[in-house]
Amino acid sequence: MKESHSQYEAVIGLEVHAQLLTDSKAFCGCTTKFGSDPNTNVCPICLGLPGVLPVLNKNVVEFAIRMGLATYCRIAPRSVFARKNYFYPDLPKGYQISQYEEPICTAGYVKIDLDDPAPGEFFKKVTKRVGITRIHMEEDAGKSIHDIDQETLVDINRCGIPLIEIVSEPDLRSPHEAYLYLRKIRQIAVYLGICDGNMEEGSLRCDANVSVRMKGETSFGTKTEVKNLNSFRFVEKALEYEINRQIGVLEERGAIDQETLLWDADRGITYPMRSKETAHDYRYFPEPDLVPVFVDQSWIEDVRKNLTEHPTTRRDRFISDFGLPWYDANVLTEEKGIADFFEREVNQISKGGDQAKQKGKIKLVANWVMASVLNELGKRKITIDSFSLPSGRLASMIELLVDGTISSRISKQLWDEMMESNEDPKSIVERKGLTQISDEGTIEKIVVDVLSRNQSQVEKYRAGEEKVLGFFVGQVMKATGGKANPGVVNAMLKKKLSEVR
Ligand code: ADP
Ligand code: MG
Ligand code: ZN
Repeated sequence: MKESHSQYEAVIGLEVHAQLLTDSKAFCGCTTKFGSDPNTNVCPICLGLPGVLPVLNKNVVEFAIRMGLATYCRIAPRSVFARKNYFYPDLPKGYQISQYEEPICTAGYVKIDLDDPAPGEFFKKVTKRVGITRIHMEEDAGKSIHDIDQETLVDINRCGIPLIEIVSEPDLRSPHEAYLYLRKIRQIAVYLGICDGNMEEGSLRCDANVSVRMKGETSFGTKTEVKNLNSFRFVEKALEYEINRQIGVLEERGAIDQETLLWDADRGITYPMRSKETAHDYRYFPEPDLVPVFVDQSWIEDVRKNLTEHPTTRRDRFISDFGLPWYDANVLTEEKGIADFFEREVNQISKGGDQAKQKGKIKLVANWVMASVLNELGKRKITIDSFSLPSGRLASMIELLVDGTISSRISKQLWDEMMESNEDPKSIVERKGLTQISDEGTIEKIVVDVLSRNQSQVEKYRAGEEKVLGFFVGQVMKATGGKANPGVVNAMLKKKLSEVR
């Protein structure tokens, strides 16, 4: 928002569509596989041929319940499918099966974290609760493909793929909050294993509703809706643009049209899709081909019992059980696969010894995951699921580091070796002779040699230029191939230099 607009406030509510990871479609047995040849994953039901009957896929209901429970919704014991009627070439039936007045989940919330605490801080200060109005089940439409010859082709493969739509309360107050909310929804859905969260492939799409009002105002202004945003950045950008546009209209004493807009990413503007006059009347009515969905308490409890640990709960557990700072716990639990990897390695760390030492090792595992593992994934452009480091390898490298077998400098070299050879760290250390040199006699000889070869630097040190010490350390490290124990080297250098003095 512009500086001159600071007396205004934005009001935002998101409608998020998440494609469900079921094997088959919502109402027929067709596969949901992405990337098949056009119009190959189809049958009379999802083609909407006359006389066919849809049969509800039970997993769709289970996935919706999972999301509902993870967002603290009420799960309706009875919910109803409805027909949403509209004409479009990618919708052969002429209607979409959705839920309308009686959705499966209502009245939940998610918590978002508003400010990042500094690294090292243990607790997040400001969290905000964003209301979830409803979550309902529905089927996706097909896809129109506009080819270069100005012809439009249609691919029905996506017709009937199950979605849940998650509708938020108008609780968000800035594009950044909308971004944080969407990330949280994505994180939860991916953790639950109900959606792959892939926005580029359209597995997660978002309609953003936004209005502006004067700060302090209690009623809402007229909203516009920006449809089909398929990246986090577009959500933020489109909202920023739209907020400024609406304020501009109000400043000119104009009125906001309640309209549906599209985002033009190339030009960075929104433009109207359809106006109120031509707005659709979907003529919703209960789907006559499907009975209501009944969910009994024992089913809900069963789903609850098998629910993946909530990412936020897991983050808080990482803080309390492992003594990690908030920042680390947050990074490590952002993705379930990373959190699983981290915990797997922590479980391989040898127990016993005092608690402080144990926590020190765990913190080292955290540091290595956040730096080296994430870096490696980025370099190879892979996700953690394809990262095939055998269980316990990182943990045993950390043990070698903590018990002084290797220096921290050598640990970096060792890690690179591990990435290349897929060999156990212990055997790499043995094979390459990477064991740290801590023997004082050995180090003393090298230190004496380095000092005698660098007399002018010794003079400088004597004259009070203490930073020369770093130069000497570097020389000793060079002479030992990085294997010298830095603590012993430092002490020995200081001792010898004071003798010289
Ligand atoms: P519609 O009937 O136009 O779809 P809904 O009341 O169902 O509108 O709300 C759709 C979305 O718009 C919800 O996420 C809701 O939070 C949001 N919303 C509703 N009113 C406003 C408003 N005045 N400003 C911003 N967002 C709003
Ligand atoms: Mg809407
Ligand atoms: Zn089908």
